[in-house]
Amino acid sequence: MTKKERLDQLGAIMSICSNCVLRSGCNRVVPGEGNPEAEIILIGEAPGKKEDETGRPFVGAAGKFLDEMLATIKLRREDIYIANVVKCRPPENRDPSQEEIETCWPWLEQQIEIIDPKIIVTLGRHSLGRFFPDMKISETHGKAFRKELPNIGKRVFYALYHPAAALYNGSMRETLIKDFGKIPKILDKIKNEK
Ligand code: URA
Repeated sequence: MTKKERLDQLGAIMSICSNCVLRSGCNRVVPGEGNPEAEIILIGEAPGKKEDETGRPFVGAAGKFLDEMLATIKLRREDIYIANVVKCRPPENRDPSQEEIETCWPWLEQQIEIIDPKIIVTLGRHSLGRFFPDMKISETHGKAFRKELPNIGKRVFYALYHPAAALYNGSMRETLIKDFGKIPKILDKIKNEK
């Protein structure tokens, strides 16, 4: 099977998942989207209202900002893959519980295994926190590092502030744009190491 076929199959299974309480309170599962052959996977926290309505990740204001940042490094959504730690919208956009995050986690592990990206970009502290509970985003953002994790393997990670948090916060916004701009160089370095 191709990566696309495997992701489609996984998405179909996700869409009928009811392993936690979130599915009964949301409209649609938001599995993720993008290029199955992507070198970059961006991982947010959980779908919001617009995502829940459309079934697509990052389509609200934060998504628009994300698209603008992608354009600054000459990438489009179709070039990368975007997913979330949690695939169903929590009620009132509350933070997902630890139990919900853990229940949903195997979907993301499988997505990463299929796509096999060169770099995993976490968006926001919740996404970073699921991979590395002891890391602080204020200290980690903007610095790529290689780590080995169970079921994820040895990979390069890069933490960014969440576009929604940075959207209306001048200094965080500037930092995020600057950190985002470093992605192509990091990717080149990874490719040259091989
Ligand atoms: N915020 C997220 O973390 N994910 C989305 O898909 C949308 C907003």
